[in-house]
Amino acid sequence: MNNTTELTQKQPVTSTATKIALAHGDGIGPEIMEATLKVLEAAGAKIETETIELGEKVYLNGNSAGIENSAWETIRKNKIILKAPITTPQGKGYKSLNVTLRKSLSLFSNIRPVIAMDPFIETGHPKMDVVIIRENEEDLYAGIEHQQTQDVVQCLKLITRPGCEKIVRYAFEYARAYNRKKVTCMVKDNIMKLTDGLFHNVFKEIAKEYPEIESDSQIIDIGAARLAAHPERYDVVVTSNLYGDIISDIVAEVAGSVGLAGSANIGQNVAMFEAIHGSAPDIAGQNIANPSGLLNAAVMMLAHIGQVDVADKVKNAWLKTIEDGVHTADIHKEGWSKIKAGTSQFADAIIERLGQKPKMLKPSTLSAGNGEIKFYDYKREEAKKTLVGVDVFIDSKDNDPNKIGNALSTINDAGMKLKMITNRGVKVFPNGIDETYCTDHWRCRFVNVSSDITVTPPDYKDVTYNNVLGLLNTLHDQGFDVIKTENLYNFNGKRGFSLGQGE
Ligand code: NAD
Repeated sequence: MNNTTELTQKQPVTSTATKIALAHGDGIGPEIMEATLKVLEAAGAKIETETIELGEKVYLNGNSAGIENSAWETIRKNKIILKAPITTPQGKGYKSLNVTLRKSLSLFSNIRPVIAMDPFIETGHPKMDVVIIRENEEDLYAGIEHQQTQDVVQCLKLITRPGCEKIVRYAFEYARAYNRKKVTCMVKDNIMKLTDGLFHNVFKEIAKEYPEIESDSQIIDIGAARLAAHPERYDVVVTSNLYGDIISDIVAEVAGSVGLAGSANIGQNVAMFEAIHGSAPDIAGQNIANPSGLLNAAVMMLAHIGQVDVADKVKNAWLKTIEDGVHTADIHKEGWSKIKAGTSQFADAIIERLGQKPKMLKPSTLSAGNGEIKFYDYKREEAKKTLVGVDVFIDSKDNDPNKIGNALSTINDAGMKLKMITNRGVKVFPNGIDETYCTDHWRCRFVNVSSDITVTPPDYKDVTYNNVLGLLNTLHDQGFDVIKTENLYNFNGKRGFSLGQGE
């Protein structure tokens, strides 16, 4: 991997103020933002803020994306966003602002640190301190879906090498920057050998470049179960979009502190920091909202812009405030809370404790790492691509695989022959078994007529694009309803497609 990467950007340790695009948000947004900024200023954060307009008012003014053009300019200029929660108006036609920002700005990485606050917030896992790093742009979230037959719909799972390299490298860089000891990769490559297999392979390649950081891999199902049962055994977890979506909610729930967590969406050029919760319109304007989620997001922002010492100072003062029993209404408990604080009072209590560290809770140690995240450019190595066959997907309500298979087996005039048919991935021809349930969606694999398909793995000879076109014409002429094709390629002689279950 060394020869494929190149240092392109490094977050500088700032000596002058960093410019931040600031969204005050809706509902409780302005109150928790004011409290957060007050703490940051008192802690000596070197930031200069510039307000951007986005959210409810912008939506209601007829902008379906919820963000003004001027806000885009400020974001692209400043590159760092601190965003309070916004209200998405009820009704159709309003696009999710978060999805728009994440996709437009290529915020490829979602970071959610979750730490136990026991005994102040109840959890069965008082030692847990885990960071979930979730790929944010690809996987099933590309949203490419099709109905292919009356009974079958499909969603395309897209995993890319640059996408895997970016997120895996970010996870190791994060661990190195913030003094984390171990990165665990979670995948399902026992089943999805190409997609999750690529993620896993990239993980193993990149892990070698960070020998001081321990690494391991787990299958996502058992990994998620263990995360729920023993979260204290994990440090940094890196995974793809859908798995990450699920496990980041699992760990937040297990810690019991969803309302206090911040999150970051990081891209190579732009990064956005926000609380996990929404705009809580039910308690807006009452000075009772808990600003902790946004404050923790701001702590991540400070670390990201190189102000790790200030980040630790704010986080430790916040931990000490919680420890001292100063609690906002949402986490206040008779018996162990000492002061029921309003939003601004809670911020003042944190300011009073700046410079102090918690005694029972684990202090923040962001500054113990090197504090630098490096980003690398993806360098593409040309691979030799050869066409060795085609999977033709056919819509047929004829529920007999042998009938379809025997008809297709007579075709060889395009230089291609049928190798097998699968239904929902299971081989049903030749030599299927009667018990396999079949839908109206048949994947028919055609290969070069001279390929030896009796050996395992089969010996696929090259075919041409004209072979494929000829085959499709023949199938169409014979009345088969072809719904899609998927070319079978080898890359550098290595099979670039999966075998059928039972092939
Ligand atoms: P919510 O998170 O705003 O509120 C859920 C419950 O938690 C409410 O009872 C609320 O009072 C409470 N709560 C939330 N944050 C709190 C805090 N800081 N202190 C004390 N109590 C708090 O979720 P919701 O009610 O489903 O959504 C309200 C609005 O927020 C919706 O318009 C939704 O679209 C939006 N939203 C925005 C974001 C974002 O901007 N990132 C995220 C989620 C929801």
